[in-house]
Amino acid sequence: MKYRSILLFGAPGSGKGTQGKIFGVIPHFFHCACGDVFRNLRTDSELGRIFVAYSSRGELVPDETTVALWRESIGQTIAAGRFHPDEDTLVLDGIPRNVEQAGMLSDSLDVAGVYYLRLVNPENLVARIQRRAIKENRLDDANLDVIRQRLKTYEKETKPVLKFYGKRLVHEINADQTPARVLADILRIAVKH
Ligand code: AMP
Repeated sequence: MKYRSILLFGAPGSGKGTQGKIFGVIPHFFHCACGDVFRNLRTDSELGRIFVAYSSRGELVPDETTVALWRESIGQTIAAGRFHPDEDTLVLDGIPRNVEQAGMLSDSLDVAGVYYLRLVNPENLVARIQRRAIKENRLDDANLDVIRQRLKTYEKETKPVLKFYGKRLVHEINADQTPARVLADILRIAVKH
């Protein structure tokens, strides 16, 4: 079956997680952040070690591993009765992260919209990511070299996903606004569909 989905898209630190958490408490939306699925792995497991190896360099975990883990995790949320695909819209944050993943997931996702949180003034991005790193204990995000690599990975591998979905589905949102205004802009479009 295909899950009706909306994608939160944008650079690291653009506010996808903040919006995702808000969606997560609105009835009939189910938020899934791929980074959280990885961070919930035990670091002494094989997959946990793979995650640490790639994320600590600011790189993406290989696609097969990522998509398999994501499918398993979504299956578990359905089995646990937390996500009801026939009633809920899946709000994805951090996946698909490249064009290959978008292709692999096309059998599972019925994408209703892609919300591109675009920072018009990206100067504060690095400082923002570093503040969050300390607050949320994301160690990979505290290191300047890793942040720069994450931003490069985003530009090179993740941004082409916008083209994959195309103009009809992609909605550009000004991510420099307050979280409430960003949410208002997303909802204005999302609830119409
Ligand atoms: P995030 O919290 O979304 O920034 O993700 C943290 C790290 O987890 C990333 O830097 C990647 O190493 C890994 N990761 C998260 N989502 C994906 C994905 N869809 N594909 C590959 N790696 C991912």
